[in-house]
Amino acid sequence: SQMLEQSRRKNKATFSFEFFPPKTAQGVQNLYDRMDRMHSFGPAFIDITWGAGGRMARLTSDMVKVAQSAYGLETCMHLTCTDMEKSKIDEALKEAYKAGCTNILALRGDPPREKEKWEATAGGFRYAKDLVKYIRDTYGNHFDIGVAGYSEGCEDQDDHELLLDHLKEKVDAGATFIVTQMFYDVDIFLDWVDKVRAKGVTIPIIPGIMPIHTHAAFMRRATWTKCNIPTAWTKALEPIKNDDAQVREVGKTLIAEMCRRLLEAGILHLHFYTMNLAQTTRMVLEELDLMPDMESPIEKPLPWRPSLGLN
Ligand code: FAD
Repeated sequence: SQMLEQSRRKNKATFSFEFFPPKTAQGVQNLYDRMDRMHSFGPAFIDITWGAGGRMARLTSDMVKVAQSAYGLETCMHLTCTDMEKSKIDEALKEAYKAGCTNILALRGDPPREKEKWEATAGGFRYAKDLVKYIRDTYGNHFDIGVAGYSEGCEDQDDHELLLDHLKEKVDAGATFIVTQMFYDVDIFLDWVDKVRAKGVTIPIIPGIMPIHTHAAFMRRATWTKCNIPTAWTKALEPIKNDDAQVREVGKTLIAEMCRRLLEAGILHLHFYTMNLAQTTRMVLEELDLMPDMESPIEKPLPWRPSLGLN
């Protein structure tokens, strides 16, 4: 793939950033400024998340348009398919198409808080694979379609084998890349990648990397996603948990080390959950020597076509 060639040529990994739509107008302006600044870090693409149930639909679509057509950033729009009218899915896809966006991360979405379980939406969308199929049927090969992967299981599915089968179904429905839930245990992740490959899935698997901003946020997110925290991480972070600056510094080293191991294992692209902040992601990229500088200035990112095989 072109992306692969870019990685090989520079002998460097490529990376991407995820942003979410802020709640206030000021927050949106701040984020646009930050996106503009982070553009100079040289991401291969950026993601804009989708509010489950379509709550922030307008804003997500606007942000995709600004990022893709005004800032010229290769953009991937997240889209969920349950607890939302089909017309919203159609509108979001149409607007993404018009904005020149060619990448969608197709998701089921979390169930609404007030309900124990979500129900299939009129139009037949129950699982992410239904959305993958719908996008393929409606837009042919216009969009590269990503789907979510869970190396340590997900909230409503403890059966890891079944989860692998469901991932395979999403790929068979037409997905062209996989982005994973955040994790900190590289051994578990690489073992899972082997299992995914053993199912006959050959599309790129992109690891989701969550930089460490504060100890409280680190613990909250790990608990929420139920991902394993390696003992060495607890040992390193627990004693300094009240010193945010030190946590960021040590966290940067741990995350960079984790990224290095992934790169050594042949994973060529890193996806950062920025939480709309630049600092900790930048620290990790600097530590990995992936930030553009005078000797290797930023090249215009090549169009991102992961379907051609990123790793
Ligand atoms: P699916 O792949 O449809 O799976 C959902 C559940 O259904 C699983 O338990 C699965 O095992 C089960 N299942 C699937 N197929 C079958 C079948 N044939 N029979 C029986 N059971 C089946 N949420 C948002 O609201 N907005 C976002 O922008 C967003 N971005 C995300 C990005 C990433 C990288 C990840 C990992 C998650 C993201 N999420 C987002 C969260 C996601 O919507 C939730 O995790 C959701 O609960 C599951 O979505 P999915 O697409 O993985 O669902």
